Amino acid sequence: MSAIVSEIFELFARFGSRRYGEDLCLQDHMGQTAAMAQSLGAPASLVVAALLHDIGYFLHAGPEMSASDGGDIGHEAVGAAWLSRAFDEEVTVPVALHVSAKRYLCAVEPRYHEQLSEASRRSLARQGGAMSQSEAAAFAKELAFDAAVLLRRCDDQGKNTQTATPDIERYRDLVIAALRPID
Ligand code: FE
Repeated sequence: MSAIVSEIFELFARFGSRRYGEDLCLQDHMGQTAAMAQSLGAPASLVVAALLHDIGYFLHAGPEMSASDGGDIGHEAVGAAWLSRAFDEEVTVPVALHVSAKRYLCAVEPRYHEQLSEASRRSLARQGGAMSQSEAAAFAKELAFDAAVLLRRCDDQGKNTQTATPDIERYRDLVIAALRPID
C-alpha cells in the first residue's frame, strides 16, 4: 500500500513544477493549500486531501495540461478515483468535491466570485458555473460538505506568489498515516 506514497512524491517531482493557469506551480499551490489547512487546525485527513487535491492534473499531465485553456477534464474526479485505491473517503471525497464547493460558494456568497483567481473564474463556466439554489441546497446536505468547503477555501488561499512554499516532504508522514489500514 505504501507504494502509492512513493508514486505520489514521484508525481510531485515529475510534474509539480508545472503551472496550470495560475501564477505559481502546482507543487507550490498544493503545498500552500495543505499548509493553510494545517494552520486552520483541520484534521490530518483534510490536510492530506488539501495536499493532494489537484493530483488529477499530474495524472493526465501532458504538454497541454492547463486549467485555463479548456483542457480541464475533471481533474477532481480523476484525482479522487486514483486516490481511492489507498485512501478512505475522508481524503477522497473532499478532493472529489472541491470544484463543486467553488460552484456552491459562487451561489451562496455574493463576494466569493470576485476574490477567485482569474484562472479559477475562467474555469468556472466550463465546470458548470454557479450552482442553482436547489443544487446548492442539495450540496449543503452532503456528508462531506464542511470538509469540501474548508478545502475549497484553503485552495483559494493557496495561490500566494510572494511567500515561500513549505517543503512538501514534511507531509510524507501525514500521507502515510492517512492510508487506509490493510485488513
Ligand atoms: Fe487547487
